[in-house]
Amino acid sequence: MNYDELLERSRDVAARVLGRGVPADYIPALACADPNDFGMALATVDGEVHGVGEWRKPFSVQSVSKLFVLALALAHGGTSLWRRVGREPSGNPFNSLIQLESEQGVPRNPFINAGALVTTDALLSLTGDAQGAVVDFLRAESGNPDIAVDPAVAASEAGHGHRNAALAHFMASFGNLHNPVDEVLAHYFAHCSVTADCRDLALAGGFLARHGLRADGSRLLSRSDAKRINAVLLTCGTYDAAGDFAYRVGLPGKSGVGGGILAIVPGRGAVCAWSPGLDAVGNSVGAMAALEDFTERSDWSVF
Ligand code: GLN
Repeated sequence: MNYDELLERSRDVAARVLGRGVPADYIPALACADPNDFGMALATVDGEVHGVGEWRKPFSVQSVSKLFVLALALAHGGTSLWRRVGREPSGNPFNSLIQLESEQGVPRNPFINAGALVTTDALLSLTGDAQGAVVDFLRAESGNPDIAVDPAVAASEAGHGHRNAALAHFMASFGNLHNPVDEVLAHYFAHCSVTADCRDLALAGGFLARHGLRADGSRLLSRSDAKRINAVLLTCGTYDAAGDFAYRVGLPGKSGVGGGILAIVPGRGAVCAWSPGLDAVGNSVGAMAALEDFTERSDWSVF
């Protein structure tokens, strides 16, 4: 099968389970998403791009942005970041507070909310504009100038952000946030609220498939840092279902409650699947099913 046939098959497999997912309902902008929407795109390291379904329909990237925040914070600031955030799966929900006290305000990993608040704080210190750095990077890698923060979603996130505010203040009490908490939260809510489509994210994930090289051939990260980010994505990128994702899909991947999942095959390319209906953990039911089918049927695997 060629890529287009593989993607169509994965879409058909996903279509059978879309009804099992429920869109995130903690903010109106996500709750009104159509659970029957599905899109999927892949971008190879040789520049091929393929897509199926609603692959050009923009959606809220949510926690997929955490991958880019980590990469940019490491690119600008180096590995001292790992003194402020760990690399272990949390085994707890993405917005959990419970491990932070015993671990002295150092979050388990950069892909849960607490960890992403720390990487956002670091990127803010390093660049002066964490959300702008994420948007600029996504635009440059995808070639899509329309990628932007959706201000209505960002305002909604802020309006329902008590738990993220609690996480941020708690870490600040341990000295693990260096900027004013309100500023860190504003940048965090903004990069969660970026709107992009499957094609954009598959292209933007390419630097991890190219071992740290950006779309224009310049180096963002060392080969070693790219390897390490992929490893942390595999173990921590899909919340407390990272084990199940590794079993079913077997790729480094990052999900978001907007329903997107971006997965990487080092040396081959990146693939993004999206459907708004989520399972109980917060991962897209349709995107998981599609990625599982795709990796079962193609030679896109790290195993
Ligand atoms: N904006 C969401 C939050 O902060 C992102 C969570 C997610 O996608 N898992 O809770």
